[in-house]
Amino acid sequence: MSVLVVGSVALDSVETPFGKADEVLGGSGTFFSASACHQTPVQLVGVVGDDYPREKLQPLADRGVDLAGLETAAGASFRWRGRYRHDLNSAETLETHLGVFSNFRPKIPEAFRSAPYVFLANIDPRLQLEVLDQVERPRLVACDTMNFWIESRRPELLELLGRVDLITLNDAEARQLTERANLVQAARWILERGPKHVVIKKGEHGAFMFTKDTVFFAPAYPLESVFDPTGAGDAFAGGFMGYLARTDDLSEANLRRAVIYGSAMGSFAVEQFSIGGLMDVDAEKIRARVDEFRRLVAFDEELLA
Ligand code: AMP
Repeated sequence: MSVLVVGSVALDSVETPFGKADEVLGGSGTFFSASACHQTPVQLVGVVGDDYPREKLQPLADRGVDLAGLETAAGASFRWRGRYRHDLNSAETLETHLGVFSNFRPKIPEAFRSAPYVFLANIDPRLQLEVLDQVERPRLVACDTMNFWIESRRPELLELLGRVDLITLNDAEARQLTERANLVQAARWILERGPKHVVIKKGEHGAFMFTKDTVFFAPAYPLESVFDPTGAGDAFAGGFMGYLARTDDLSEANLRRAVIYGSAMGSFAVEQFSIGGLMDVDAEKIRARVDEFRRLVAFDEELLA
């Protein structure tokens, strides 16, 4: 089963305590694709400017990312500049230049419209809604967002909430969107507005998945060195959606397994700049890391009286 994703395809300039990268491949759509493609075919919808080094996307195409929905338009590509200080959980955005995304109207290729799994990665909620208008009854639609859009496109985001099955966002975004400090209350606020599942990511502290009646928690993999957290959230979403599409099973138990696959892919993303960490993995390494998650949370159920 394939996954259709719309999201930013960007040039990122990132500074972390461990180094700098200038104008490297980035964007929510790019990180998502680089992660999900290890499990299932991906169809990427987005736009780049005529200054984009499209040839650098070839490794993604080689791994099964269909770029037929990635337009090239006259103008500048989306650029994001961010910095992480010692708290690697929160990025400080220094600059966001939407470039060709300002005038972009997504046109989903005919062959993509019946994609059973759809991910609306972090991008203008207006574009996320336009994509939804063009797809035919997907089995699962999930979305992501960030502070930039929560501030500037709140009404559209609320409309989007009513049309998705699942949302992924980090703890700060959940608090900002819901104006609730408590994450359980924040999740409930979101669940009341449409999605049946809410995944709240807490960076190095793991991720929660909430439904109306259940809560599941997955830790983050305890990495000894985190190099660049950029893209961890999108890589999480790629692992999560890729696993669901590959297994085509929307039971609660399988969604929990998908959270673990998401956490595993997020952990690979942060080991290198840009999509390097995600391009270096294969099915065997993913399997091994998922097994480590199992060991990480295993404990003896027998309690002493
Ligand atoms: P994350 O997974 O949250 O670390 O996402 C990082 C990616 O989000 C970077 O590669 C950026 O290019 C991209 N990004 C940053 N700001 C925005 C925005 N306002 N809209 C869409 N994508 C963005």
